[in-house]
This record gives sequence, C-alpha cells and structure tokens, in this order.
Amino acid sequence: MNIETIPLIRSPRRKTIAIQVGRDGRVTVRAPERMSETAIRAFVAKQEAWVQKRVKEMLKRRRPNRTFCDGECFLLRGAEVKLEIVERGARSLVLGETFQLVARDRFRARELFERRYKEAAREHLSLRVPQYARRMGVKHGAVRLSNARHTWGSCAPDNRLSFTWRLIMAPDEVIDYIIVHELAHVVHKNHGKRFWAKVARFCPDYKKRRAWLGVQGHLLEI
Ligand SMILES: [Zn+2]
Repeated sequence: MNIETIPLIRSPRRKTIAIQVGRDGRVTVRAPERMSETAIRAFVAKQEAWVQKRVKEMLKRRRPNRTFCDGECFLLRGAEVKLEIVERGARSLVLGETFQLVARDRFRARELFERRYKEAAREHLSLRVPQYARRMGVKHGAVRLSNARHTWGSCAPDNRLSFTWRLIMAPDEVIDYIIVHELAHVVHKNHGKRFWAKVARFCPDYKKRRAWLGVQGHLLEI
C-alpha cells in the first residue's frame, strides 16, 4: 500500500480525518475541506501500521484459508457440510450429505468447488426465480450466473437478471431475498419507496436478510 495514492475525499461538514478500510481492503481517507493535503498525508502516514493491519484483517476475512483437507466445513444453502477426502469416486467432487473429494483431485479442489457450486446455483435459481416471478407478476429476461463477490444480483435495463453463483452458499431465505430484490427492479429501476414496498410484500423480513449479507456475506467464499 502506498500512502500517497490513497484516495482523498474532502467534505465541508467533516471536522476530523477518518481513515476507512473497506471490505475489499480498499483504503479511503475522509478529511475536512480546509485541511492541507500535506497535513492529511502526514496524519495518515502516522497511522500506517494500523492501516496495514486493518487491510490484512479485511482481506483475511474475505477469503477463508482453505486447505481442502478432511473435515473442513463448506457452506451449501446455509448448511455447514463436512468435506471428506475419498480414495475413489464416480466424480471428482460430489456435493451430498458430505462433500466427497477424490484425493488425487485435491490440487484442483477450488476449481471443482466452483464448478459444482455453479451447477447447484443454476439448478436452485431455475426453480426459485420463476416461482417468485409468478407470485410477483413480473416478466423478466434471461437469467445468468455471475462471478461477482459483493454484487449478489443485478437487473439490467432490458430486465435480464444475474446472480452470483456464490449465493448458493447462503441460507435459502437470503437467496430468496436477492431474487425478490432483483425481480422488484424489473418494475422499479431504483431503490425508492415503491421498490422497497414491493420487496416487503413478498419478503416482509427483508431487512433481516439483507443484514445477514452485510455481516456474513464474506463467508460466501471457497
Ligand atoms: Zn437493488
């Protein structure tokens, strides 16, 4: 990290300097409008050790340290499932009561997990999206999977929907909330009052589900 290149945001209402470290490890400095850049950079330089530590923490939170060993836990639709390393199997990785990974394929475990999670996500969404679309009386475009880390879903101007495959690790009610959220965007292309009213009609406790993503979203990683 280079202190000199940290983005600086000035605001007339600010009285003090604040250094923020985002979930993606990105650092932003917020400062009062009138403070000189030299003074701000000097302040930030003094906090460098703290900032470095915080960035490291955030990045660590972002991705669990995986070794793909026997007994390691993985998420699928909110459930914690144990990984079992097996000598042989019909497929390199099977997601079942336990997740079974063939020992000789351990070196490409992350890639295999991603592939299986994508299959599971596609299958789950192909059932749930039409169900909610029918209930909500919404006509959407094609549904695709994305690889996004923090954008759980999106609705394009032409009403094509996309959902990150990582969502399949979240509990069903959280996945449903994202589905309802994106379907509501087919009707309301903003986050206005009427948009949230539509979400609330089909997902009354959406605030709780949204909060889950805020707090636990970083767990949706392999
Ligand atoms: Zn939205």
